[in-house]
Amino acid sequence: MRSGFGVGNSCFKTLTSTDARVDRALEDAYSANDFRAAGHRIIDMLADHLEHSLSGSQSQALPWLEPEDSLAHWTELARPTGAQSPHEFKKTIETLCAELLERSVHISNPKFMGHQICSPAPTAILAGLVTDFLNNGSGVYEMGMAGTAMEKVVIRTVAEQFGMSEAADGVMTSGGTLANLTAMLAARAIKSGGDDWTAGTHQPLAIMVSDQAHYCVDRAVRIMGWGETGVIRVPTNDHYAMQTAELPGLLAKATSEGRKVIAVVGSACSTSTGSFDDLAAISQFCKQHNLWFHVDGAHGAAVAFSSKHRHLVRGIESADSVVLDFHKMLMTPVINSAVIFKRKLESFRTFAMEADYLFAQTQDQLDEFNLAKRTFECTKTMLSAKVFSILAVHGTRLWESNIDRLHEIAGTFAELIESRAAFQLAIRPQTNIVCFRLLPSLSTAHDDAANNIDFVSELNSAIREQLVRDGEFYIVKTVLRGTTWLRCTLANPFTSADDMNGLLDRLELLAASRTPANALLP
Ligand SMILES: *Cc1c(COP(=O)(O)O)cnc(C)c1O
Repeated sequence: MRSGFGVGNSCFKTLTSTDARVDRALEDAYSANDFRAAGHRIIDMLADHLEHSLSGSQSQALPWLEPEDSLAHWTELARPTGAQSPHEFKKTIETLCAELLERSVHISNPKFMGHQICSPAPTAILAGLVTDFLNNGSGVYEMGMAGTAMEKVVIRTVAEQFGMSEAADGVMTSGGTLANLTAMLAARAIKSGGDDWTAGTHQPLAIMVSDQAHYCVDRAVRIMGWGETGVIRVPTNDHYAMQTAELPGLLAKATSEGRKVIAVVGSACSTSTGSFDDLAAISQFCKQHNLWFHVDGAHGAAVAFSSKHRHLVRGIESADSVVLDFHKMLMTPVINSAVIFKRKLESFRTFAMEADYLFAQTQDQLDEFNLAKRTFECTKTMLSAKVFSILAVHGTRLWESNIDRLHEIAGTFAELIESRAAFQLAIRPQTNIVCFRLLPSLSTAHDDAANNIDFVSELNSAIREQLVRDGEFYIVKTVLRGTTWLRCTLANPFTSADDMNGLLDRLELLAASRTPANALLP
């Protein structure tokens, strides 16, 4: 790299001497020396930040600012600073990066237990820096040779781990939401019985999915123009998993009402509670009725990399398509996902008519190295490098360690919650997502059950908001069957029992300070 920068510098000299039109500001902006110096200092800053996060010496996971204050601050920073000229900017990239660090959520802080996003592996962060530098796309092979090849390796690794054969293939996408839509479009092309891509959809199509599915499945259906009735909600059991026994009845009802059901989507796992649907049972049902079987494994399909937890996705090998997010349990910076198809040819159906691929008899005609044929993105970032770097530098064993550790921490957290009288656990966690709530004391409970439920929801929402403003910990909330619950994703392998007890202590304290002293004790 060093010699590469040197060449860059001498290029500038040639440019300036021969071409006076190059603005000085442009030369400065592309200075290799400045880049080198600032880069070293910024990496030092990030490494210090990581060190402080992991050692627990960083006081806040979320340095809360009111939206207006945050906007005012950043508006001010974008203003020119020079007194002489409106074009004088004195900020350096280092001061800006320091501001960014200070004013963002600190995901690598062990007290961050909020959304499903991981603390990314430094290896993948560095790979990301290089892909930003290169700025190659990976939609078209000749613009992204390395990215395309790495993508194929990543897809193959995941497909094998799911237990799929050599015939499987897929693409990486900017997020699970887009990956699910990509899969649903292919499902429509293959199962609708019409040529929807050319003629539009002229029949009431539908899919079946549990009432706990991620909202992006519902959105995908509406984007395809099937409307509200395009989603048939399958009820869930006490553990928030799909009641697969309801599938035949719901299918018969939909059919009798004139809707053509083309697919069942299994959640692996659900977003709110981390509950895994019985994929083997859904697969069986789909085979019987000639339906597309899609798995939304954005969060949980990663468990396929753990021999201990793989049983949770039993049946995934028979899915027609599966979505997986690398940025949730697989240590990759956002946003980084894949959609895997069991049969390579079908991965070409998202945006194509049947004829397009039927006539392709050779690999070459299939055009499998120009990935844009199969993804929404035209200019697509080199998503694969971040994931590939983890594979090549650490191997899948690192993912297994992370997954096992996160599941273990979540189990510990559930036990801590259960051991305290002030809290109620929603369900024993199957993965690293834990839902729970503070209970008001019986003495403050209303006689009217509905009021009581409202009171519990209000209490938990209010306390979480106080916690967010306080900023030491970060957790989120969810609504389960009409009631608000607190929700944690244990996404950091370094979160300890002390951190978790600290969170529960803080919640109890906040609750005690806003209700009568005995409000939390049954
Ligand atoms: C996170 C998640 C999604 C959305 O994925 P993005 O990568 O955020 O677009 C979809 N489905 C499930 C089950 C999820 O957990």
